[in-house]
Amino acid sequence: MSDIYYNAKENFTGVIEQLMGRYRVYAPVKEGCHHHGFAPIEKAEAADLGFNNTRLSPKGLFHPQAERMFEYSLAKDDPQAGIVKEAQKDFSPRVLLGVRPCDAKAFDLDDSNFNTETIKDPWWVRRRETTTMIGLACDSPCSTCFCTSMGSGPYDTAGLDVLLVDAGEGYAAEVLNEKGKNTLAVTSGWTPVTSAILPLTHKKKASEQSIGIAFDPAAIAKKQMLEIYNSPAWEEVQFACINCGACTFVCPTCWCFDIQDEVCGDKGERLRLWDSCMFPLFTLHGSGHNPRSNKTQRVRQRFMHKLKYYQDKYNSGPACVGCGRCVQACPVNIDIRQVGRQMASQGCSQPA
Ligand code: SF4
Ligand code: SF4
Repeated sequence: MSDIYYNAKENFTGVIEQLMGRYRVYAPVKEGCHHHGFAPIEKAEAADLGFNNTRLSPKGLFHPQAERMFEYSLAKDDPQAGIVKEAQKDFSPRVLLGVRPCDAKAFDLDDSNFNTETIKDPWWVRRRETTTMIGLACDSPCSTCFCTSMGSGPYDTAGLDVLLVDAGEGYAAEVLNEKGKNTLAVTSGWTPVTSAILPLTHKKKASEQSIGIAFDPAAIAKKQMLEIYNSPAWEEVQFACINCGACTFVCPTCWCFDIQDEVCGDKGERLRLWDSCMFPLFTLHGSGHNPRSNKTQRVRQRFMHKLKYYQDKYNSGPACVGCGRCVQACPVNIDIRQVGRQMASQGCSQPA
C-alpha cells in the first residue's frame, strides 16, 4: 500500500527550491501565450502547475530531438584522428515535476523499444534510472483526451514515482516506490494523511467521467490483421494527409530516429535525430527501392503500428496513451479516434 502525504500550496515554492538544491528540476513552463513545455527551471516560481497539457510530451528529455551521440577529429596532425568518442552527457540526478499520467505511461511503452532484455539504449536507460517522475493528476482533461479508452486514466500511477493531486489549498502526494520516497524526503512540510479526509476519490471519478469513450482497442486486437490492412478505408483516411509528420513528433510513444554524421572543418559528430514514418525518405533503401513509397502505405503504417501490430506483438494494449496531441496537431484534422473506430469495425474477428 502506498503512502499519502499533504502539503499546503503556500509551501510549494519552498518544496521546489528544496528539490532544486539536490536535483536538476524540469517542470512545465509557459511557452508564449498559449502553450506549456517542459524545461529546466532556475527559479521555483517558473514552474507552472496550472497547465492543461504540454505541447510536446517530455519524451525529448530522454530521447532528444537531436542528440550528439559521438564526436571525432579528422585533423591530419591529430593522433586520435578518426577515433569515434562518446559525446559528454549530463546524467546527474533530476526530477521531472508535473508529468501527466498519460505521458508517464508512455515511458513504460517506450521501454519496449529502448530497454528490453536484449536491447539497451545506454542513454535512455541511464536517464530513466537517474530521473524521478513526480506526476500531477489531471482534473481538466481536454476534449481531445481519451486516456481512459487506452487502459489509462487521469489519475493513473503507471510509470510514476510520486503522484501529486491538487487538493484545493494544497497537494496530496502519493508515494509509489523507494525512488519517490527518497526524493520527497529532501523536501519538508508534508504530513501523512488518510485518503478518507481528502475527497480525492470523487475528483478522480469526476475527471474519468468527463472523458468520452473513443474506441475499443481490444476490438482491434481481435480483428484479422490482413482484413484491416487491406481495407479500402485507408484511401479515405490518407486523402487529406500532407505527410507533415506533426502527429509523430508530438506523440509520446513515437520513437523513430535517423543517424547522420555532420562534419565541419576537421571535426565531426554523429547525431541521432527524430524521424517519422510519415516521411517518404524514412523507408527509402540505398537501392532506390521504397517499400512505403505512397502516402496510403505510410498513413496505414502509423495507425497499424500503434493500434494493431503493437498489440499483436506484445499481447498488450495499444502503443497509444490517448494524450490527444496528434488530434490537436494535425493540420487537416485526421483524428485517431475516428480511425480507431473504423479499424474496430472492419473485417472479421480472429477465432478465439
Ligand atoms: S497516437 Fe496520438 S493520442 Fe496516441 S499517444 Fe500518440 S499523440 Fe497521443
Ligand atoms: S499531422 Fe496529419 S497531415 Fe501531418 S502527417 Fe500526421 S496525419 Fe498527416
